[in-house]
Amino acid sequence: MGFEQFGRVSFTSQTKVGNFVECLEKEGLFATKCRVCEQSYFPPRADCANCLNSDMDWLKVEGTGKLVSFTRACFGPTGFEEDVPYVLAVADFNTTKVFGRFKSDFPEDQLNIGMDIQVKTITLPNGQISYEFVPA
Ligand SMILES: [Zn+2]
Repeated sequence: MGFEQFGRVSFTSQTKVGNFVECLEKEGLFATKCRVCEQSYFPPRADCANCLNSDMDWLKVEGTGKLVSFTRACFGPTGFEEDVPYVLAVADFNTTKVFGRFKSDFPEDQLNIGMDIQVKTITLPNGQISYEFVPA
């Protein structure tokens, strides 16, 4: 399974981190971590931007993270026009910071910086696989 099965709009089907989507469906969300300098990346990267090495390992994003920042998107880019408004957020899971959307029916006025959140794998109405943040 490649990236053609990921998200609301998939802009590419072939990447060096294509099994991200299969892992997301079966085991949960993963970042990557450089085996040489230990820099972690989300979205996952196959090559380290810090030391230029390609010796990367998968790093599971698990447990409870902290909400670092969020914003309300009122204008959707191509493919996301029907979804607005939605909340984009960054969460710190200690191993890495993760970017994603917050659960759409969670009241925005109850979002607080530092609140505990988790990642949940979801299947979209069109059958695509994605993830969202949910309160812990
Ligand atoms: Zn590195």
